[in-house]
Amino acid sequence: MPLLKALFLGTGGAVPRATRPLSGIYVEDWEGHRLLLDASEGVQYRLLENGISPASLDFVAISHAHEDHILGLPGLIATARLMGRQPKVLAPPKLAEELARLGYDVATSAEDRRLRISCVPVCHTVEACGWLLEWDVGYRLDKAKAEGLPRWALTKLIKGEAVEVEGRVIRPEEVADPSSKRFKRLFYTGDTGPCPSAVEPLKWVDVLIHEATFADDVDPAEAHKEGHSTVADAVEAARALGASLLVLTHISARYEDKARHRALAAASGLNAVVPDDYEWLLIQL
Ligand SMILES: [Zn+2]
Ligand SMILES: [Zn+2]
Repeated sequence: MPLLKALFLGTGGAVPRATRPLSGIYVEDWEGHRLLLDASEGVQYRLLENGISPASLDFVAISHAHEDHILGLPGLIATARLMGRQPKVLAPPKLAEELARLGYDVATSAEDRRLRISCVPVCHTVEACGWLLEWDVGYRLDKAKAEGLPRWALTKLIKGEAVEVEGRVIRPEEVADPSSKRFKRLFYTGDTGPCPSAVEPLKWVDVLIHEATFADDVDPAEAHKEGHSTVADAVEAARALGASLLVLTHISARYEDKARHRALAAASGLNAVVPDDYEWLLIQL
């Protein structure tokens, strides 16, 4: 079973608290890809403290140009450059143009082996991407249906390719275990208000990392005007997407601790967590 490791290097939103740095999530997949989702001020030190070299990152995906998501990028890239290996920066289109002018190696999407990373525009006050990470894990075949097929055909079918055996074309869906899905998906929203234009085309995800700047003590309309979400908004998105895990982050500095967020997460009836800063989550996909 694919195992994902995620380290929360900062769960604060907009304004930090002494013990709650701003956005940055390190993700490592079972294929060995290493990614950073958002790069707040000083994020390279927090990576180093956790034994992760900036030069070991393959991708740094920036959700948008607000300071609490990007101020750590120049230092991180400078360090990686001095170490001799730079990650590819991913950014929303207009920001990508600016970064390219500044000499960054930047793109708006990426594909590497079985991982595809793409921007899903979200609903914030400036151009912003939610980042969709999608892994092609192939099909699990139904033993009975696949019986008698040659090994080469099985290999192709598992990878999602159709085969022709003795004049008969077999599509992978015909012999796959009906409960097996070819893709695994994680979606990280960055900053967003409720955003049907992102959620509806996405249809489903396995893991949703959603911002929840506010708990339930602010007028949701005010939160939405600022391009942010409440816990209830994040829960609604997770329900709509059928996420088997909801992770809440980007917590406003107005909350001294995360108790209120955690109580709401627990009451949601979903598998929902509010990670601590520097907490590792091991996610079975
Ligand atoms: Zn933010
Ligand atoms: Zn923002």
